[in-house]
Amino acid sequence: MARRVYIDEDECIGCGSCQDICPEVFRLNEEAEKSEVIKPEGGPEDLIEEAMGECPMSCIFWE
Ligand code: SF4
Repeated sequence: MARRVYIDEDECIGCGSCQDICPEVFRLNEEAEKSEVIKPEGGPEDLIEEAMGECPMSCIFWE
């Protein structure tokens, strides 16, 4: 089974960086000030990896 992406929302500070890098997979919920995974089954892996690397809280993971 393919890897799935998830965000630890307790750690997320809603900076929006993941959405900026890979809007196909991540969306900032501006009301909650948290980002959500809108396409957990994947997307461009290089952009997901970049979003993981740029996340200031390191709270995006593969499961
Ligand atoms: S980059 Fe990390 S801290 Fe910023 S919105 Fe995305 S998951 Fe949250």
